[in-house]
Amino acid sequence: MKLDLPESITLNCPSCKSEYLAIDEYKIVSCQTCSLKIHKDELINQNNLEEKINIEQLSKDLTKEIQKIFKGKNWK
Ligand SMILES: [Zn+2]
Repeated sequence: MKLDLPESITLNCPSCKSEYLAIDEYKIVSCQTCSLKIHKDELINQNNLEEKINIEQLSKDLTKEIQKIFKGKNWK
């Protein structure tokens, strides 16, 4: 088993968030922490998806905060 994930991309296990991942010749990534097996493309998709959700959640929270500030100042 050899590690050939590009160093510029940090991928995390979608199950336990571990960065200790190994990839085999069939591009199947195995988590060294919880033994989860997932295809490399699928893993990259999952990691990208999580990033997107976090940004959406962040902008929602920000909108709520702004609304609170406006309410406190009697701005409608
Ligand atoms: Zn894992």
